[in-house]
Amino acid sequence: MRKHVVAGNWKMNNDIPQTEALIQDLKRHAKTSEVEVMIAPSATNLWHASELLKGSDIEVIAQNMHFAENGAFTGEISASMLKSVGVKTVILGHSERRAYYNETDKSLSKKVNSALDNGMTIVFCFGEELQDRKADMHQSVVKDQIQSALFHLDASAFKNIILAYEPVWAIGTGETASPDQAQEMHHFIRNTLVNQYNQSVADDVSILYGGSVKPSNAKEIFSKQDVDGGLIGGAALNAEDFFAIVNAISSASNFPLEFNAIS
Ligand code: PEP
Repeated sequence: MRKHVVAGNWKMNNDIPQTEALIQDLKRHAKTSEVEVMIAPSATNLWHASELLKGSDIEVIAQNMHFAENGAFTGEISASMLKSVGVKTVILGHSERRAYYNETDKSLSKKVNSALDNGMTIVFCFGEELQDRKADMHQSVVKDQIQSALFHLDASAFKNIILAYEPVWAIGTGETASPDQAQEMHHFIRNTLVNQYNQSVADDVSILYGGSVKPSNAKEIFSKQDVDGGLIGGAALNAEDFFAIVNAISSASNFPLEFNAIS
């Protein structure tokens, strides 16, 4: 059965004192739940954040990594380096990495291979731009993205992959896909996985929605059948908002009883 996940992408925010303060706040707001909660601080803060959250239910994950094991790649970080600071999950393919650092589905497929070879879990991001949606190309763009970066993998690899549908026009803009738009795309993604692999891969993979999720809209989005959680940017920088979003998952009506277990 698939997991319900809320991951906070801190992007290039928070130095060490700010990281300490936010983590303290997160610990204050955290409650036991069946939702997997993740935060992605900057690379410089991963070790410290992992130490501060040892023994807690909040997992520290990375925002990016290089595909090579080591070598002459100035400024880059490998999977084994991430593992050595206690990180087991990495976000790959965020639209900001695609837009500003020329990441393509082809280069991302190498990162995907390296992360999986290193036994890591991947939060794989993709999503269409506004012009694609206006041209009614959003489904074919998304299908191309997941096909090029992921469909060389065996079905078993999907145990270690979380998908994150993030329409680029909704990231950091205050604009959100409507719950119906999110559901339509998530359902399309699941069908694409049925066609490429099988029903059990499609049923078991968690598909997160990302794009201006806030406490005020989270419950409505998460109540959709095929939305298994969220990748959260701006609202992840405030502990109260972030945990209001986490708790919205548990109260969203489509969740089976075991996912309503906030104590
Ligand atoms: C993101 O960066 O992945 C994101 C979803 O950002 P925001 O929530 O701020 O739109």
